[in-house]
Amino acid sequence: MLTTKLNTPYDYINMAFIDLKNIKKTYQLGETQIHALRGLDLSLNKGEFASLIGPSGSGKSSLLHILGAIEQVDQGEYFFNDIKVNSMNDDDLSVLRNEKIGFIFQSFHLVPVLTVFENIELPLLIQKQVSQKERTDRILSALESVKMQDFKNHPPNKLSGGQRQRIAIARALVTKPSLILADEPTANLDSETTHHIIDLLLKINQETKVTFLFSTHDEKLMNRVDRHIRIQDGKII
Ligand code: ADP
Ligand code: MG
Repeated sequence: MLTTKLNTPYDYINMAFIDLKNIKKTYQLGETQIHALRGLDLSLNKGEFASLIGPSGSGKSSLLHILGAIEQVDQGEYFFNDIKVNSMNDDDLSVLRNEKIGFIFQSFHLVPVLTVFENIELPLLIQKQVSQKERTDRILSALESVKMQDFKNHPPNKLSGGQRQRIAIARALVTKPSLILADEPTANLDSETTHHIIDLLLKINQETKVTFLFSTHDEKLMNRVDRHIRIQDGKII
């Protein structure tokens, strides 16, 4: 449960599920300031399946990290389901990250010493209200969604790239989030596997109505997706 109290009526005005207003993010690199996001506005609706397209360095990862509450904005406002993420305390941010948002990385980020099953279990171990039985049910169901039931006792390094990404997708799904963010999820995969992964994400989106935003610089994926969000120099164009 999020505990942040909203204090001004203004906080309730936003109707979109995700709303970013005038987001700015600057990184300090030695003497140089890098303006990664320069006043970015973006809204996402519930159940949307959208791609974030832009060249390398355009700010895709910065934007996804802010949406995933992995990084904080320097300026601007981020609303998640009408709650202002900027004003959340650390406990609420942890709950948001763990229960409401799934994140899929380009390089999978699986823990090599754990089995497939244990990797998917990790985000649920933090949720004390989920019993061991429910945990097992949810992990098996997530494995079924990505068609990897037969691999539950395998270590990740015995799997192909496409199979690893399926496990990472299952791990993102298992908490039943309302938003799944994927940062170039197919960049390390061949084109056939890429299409299978995108088909899988689309199927999950249709079945669960979870909102998806995935970044890519692969124009070939464009015709698979309803909405394309283009980013350039830290702004949506
Ligand atoms: P993309 O994912 O589209 O390639 P990024 O969001 O990673 O773009 O980067 C946007 C800009 O911010 C780039 O110029 C990048 O070098 C810079 N940047 C991103 N992260 C950092 C960081 N942690 N420290 C310094 N500069 C960064
Ligand atoms: Mg990136």
